[in-house]
Amino acid sequence: MMRIDILSLFPAMFDGPFGDSITKRAIENGIIDIHITNPRDYTDDKHHQVDDSPFGGGSGMVMKPEPMFRAVNDVLAKTNIKNRRILLMSPTGKTFTQEKAKELASYDQLIFICGHYEGFDARIVEHIPDEEISIGDYVLTGGELPAMVIVDAVSRMLPGVLGSEESAPTDSFYDGLLEYPQYTRPREYEGMKVPDILISGDHAKIDAWRRKEALRVTLLKRPELLETANLSEKDKKILDELRESIE
Ligand code: SAM
Repeated sequence: MMRIDILSLFPAMFDGPFGDSITKRAIENGIIDIHITNPRDYTDDKHHQVDDSPFGGGSGMVMKPEPMFRAVNDVLAKTNIKNRRILLMSPTGKTFTQEKAKELASYDQLIFICGHYEGFDARIVEHIPDEEISIGDYVLTGGELPAMVIVDAVSRMLPGVLGSEESAPTDSFYDGLLEYPQYTRPREYEGMKVPDILISGDHAKIDAWRRKEALRVTLLKRPELLETANLSEKDKKILDELRESIE
C-alpha cells in the first residue's frame, strides 16, 4: 500500500476528487491510503496564524515556517516510512511528467506540501522537500490542485488501480508517443465511419495501423516528443513517409 500525506490549509478541497471514481476505488481496495494534515493545527498562537508579511516589504503574505516544520515532523514521526519522498508544490519546480509519475509510483510514501498566498518562507523550500514539482508554467492560487493531479497520475501507475479495460500501456506518453485514435460503436455515425481496418479482425494489421497513427498524431501535434521517443528502424521509415505525405 502507498501512504500519501498531504499538508494543506484547505483539507476540504480534497473531498470531491478523492471521493469518486478510480481514486475512491484505489482507497477502498487498500492500494493507497490518503491522510490530510492541516498546518494550521500546528500553530500555538491565539489566531492560528499560518502566514505573515514578507521581510523587505512587498505585497501578499508568506507561509510561516513553524507550522509547516512542525506538521511535517509530526507526519514523519507518526509514519516512520523509509522509502518516502517529500514533494513541494511550486511553480518554480521541475515540470511534472508521465516519467515522473512512474518514478514516484515506486515509493511507499509520498508527502505533498501545498502552498498558498504568495508561497513559502524560503527556509521551508530549502530544508523540507526532496524536490519541488510544478504542474506547468502558470500560477495557481494553491498547491492543492497540483497535489491532486500528481496523486491521480501516480495512482494510475500502481498495480491494481486500473482495471484491465483501462490499461495504461496504450496511453499517451507511456512509450514517448501520443495515443492513436480510438473508436467505438456505432460503426457509422451521420456519415462518419470507423476505419475498416479496425473491424477487419486482423490483429497484426490493427497493431501496425495503431503504431502508424500514434506516429502520425505525435508528428502533427507534438513533434518534439519524437526526439526522445523509443523508435525502431521501422518507425523511422514510417515517419519519413509521413513527413513526405504531409509536405
Ligand atoms: N509567489 C509564487 C511564485 O511566484 O512562484 C507563487 C505562489 S502561488 C500563488 C501559491 C501556491 O500555489 C504555491 O506556493 C504552490 O504551492 C502552488 N502553485 C501555484 N502554481 C503552481 C504550479 N504551476 N505547480 C505547482 N504548484 C503551484
